[in-house]
Amino acid sequence: MKYFFLLFPMLLFSTCTKKQISTVEASKNATPQIKNVILLIGDGMGVTQISAGMYMNGNTLNLERCKVVGLHKPSASNNLVTDSAAGATAFACGKKTYNGAIGVDPDKKPVKSILEHAEEQGLATGLVATSTITHATPASFIAHVEQRKMMEEIAMYFMKTEVDLFIGGGKKYFDNRSDKKNLSKQLRENGYYVSDFVTETLEDVEIPMDKNFAYFTANDNPLPAYQGRDYIGVAARKAISYLDQKSADKGFFLMIEGSQIDWGGHANNSDYIVSEVIDFDNAVKAALDFAEKDGQTLVVITADHETGGYAINKGSTLDSLVTQFTTDYHTADLIPVFAFGPGAAEFGGIYENTAIFDKMMKALFE
Ligand code: MG
Ligand code: ZN
Repeated sequence: MKYFFLLFPMLLFSTCTKKQISTVEASKNATPQIKNVILLIGDGMGVTQISAGMYMNGNTLNLERCKVVGLHKPSASNNLVTDSAAGATAFACGKKTYNGAIGVDPDKKPVKSILEHAEEQGLATGLVATSTITHATPASFIAHVEQRKMMEEIAMYFMKTEVDLFIGGGKKYFDNRSDKKNLSKQLRENGYYVSDFVTETLEDVEIPMDKNFAYFTANDNPLPAYQGRDYIGVAARKAISYLDQKSADKGFFLMIEGSQIDWGGHANNSDYIVSEVIDFDNAVKAALDFAEKDGQTLVVITADHETGGYAINKGSTLDSLVTQFTTDYHTADLIPVFAFGPGAAEFGGIYENTAIFDKMMKALFE
């Protein structure tokens, strides 16, 4: 990835020039400065998933607090129907790529992610997921590998990029590896406070402000919400307050994924989907509550793709849904994008999934 460093002075120059211009424009139009970006991804969360979650949650979700809604076109470079790796790489790196690709372009070349850009510019960064932290969606923000299945290789990238905070499952890819490396130990040597679900609950953790923070919520994949997993709200609140304190005046970039909405779709299990959407909404609430008070935080909430070809049919009521699926895989449906805070208006309209990267980059660095 050395070529990034060659490219960096040029990027920096163009960023500074634009920053000066936008500062002038900002004072002219009194547009509030955007300091932080929180991206929330509900994996597999199409319009029907949102509808079902909303109906089954007393006909309301925190998502409705967003006044700007747009749609993105979720295709991969090699397939109209994307997977979560290509989908997340589009958001993370601004490139359409092939299904299975993690942070690399169609030629398998690494593309710098918004999280890596943010790290380089001195912002604080974080990743939260309800899958393993090495799973396709979070992985695309930090790793650059040819195939999403390369979990142990993906874990190695957490040794290279000093993401300030990460919370998710997949402890085994760090501590019980085929190469016998102990990455938790290495994380501690790299200045992390490392903890897990066995040692203490996430709620109880006091994160030392002079350390980075890694917390494993499971050895492998965390449980579904309907089996008792309930940490995403706590994780979101902890991550936001920690990153906000840590970033001082620089700002932060945080990605939070509700990973298992997709798994409910693959399982053609409507109750699984509904419970995961309602769980994800706790993270949405935490982000919007903070952004409302802060005034300098852009919140973007979207999905990589729809899963299941899920429909809500006649006979449904607000107490019980009659549902149907057309597939146990993803579909090519347009995907809603909800935005809140300064810069939110940019997210209205219809655009490619890669435009979400462009818009977030503009918000943070121009
Ligand atoms: Mg995912
Ligand atoms: Zn999926």
